[in-house]
Amino acid sequence: MEVILTIAFIVLAIVFYFLPALIADKRKVAAAGTIAWVNFFFGWTILGWIAALIWAVAEAPIAPAALPRDDPEQRDCPACYSKIDPRATICPHCRTAVERLGSADAEAPASPKPNPYYR
Ligand SMILES: [Zn+2]
Repeated sequence: MEVILTIAFIVLAIVFYFLPALIADKRKVAAAGTIAWVNFFFGWTILGWIAALIWAVAEAPIAPAALPRDDPEQRDCPACYSKIDPRATICPHCRTAVERLGSADAEAPASPKPNPYYR
């Protein structure tokens, strides 16, 4: 029983420690990533934790229109226009057989632009 309580306390402490980052993420603020790093590195100073919390609450959230609506990794199904995986051969929404897009670059969509400084 004591072990379970200790684990529960540790989990709660971690959640509480990252509360500013969680609030920033939930509010979809532009600086959410920076707030998370400030929270991570300076949260233990208490002052850093309070600063991150104020920042997370005060920062204006990104307007819904500014959020990316389309996932570039996805494509439209030609039959039902649902977003599907580019490597899919059957649409998971309407079960229509779709053409698989170029397998070579579909397997590794890591770098869309080659780096000119690295040859
Ligand atoms: Zn479909």
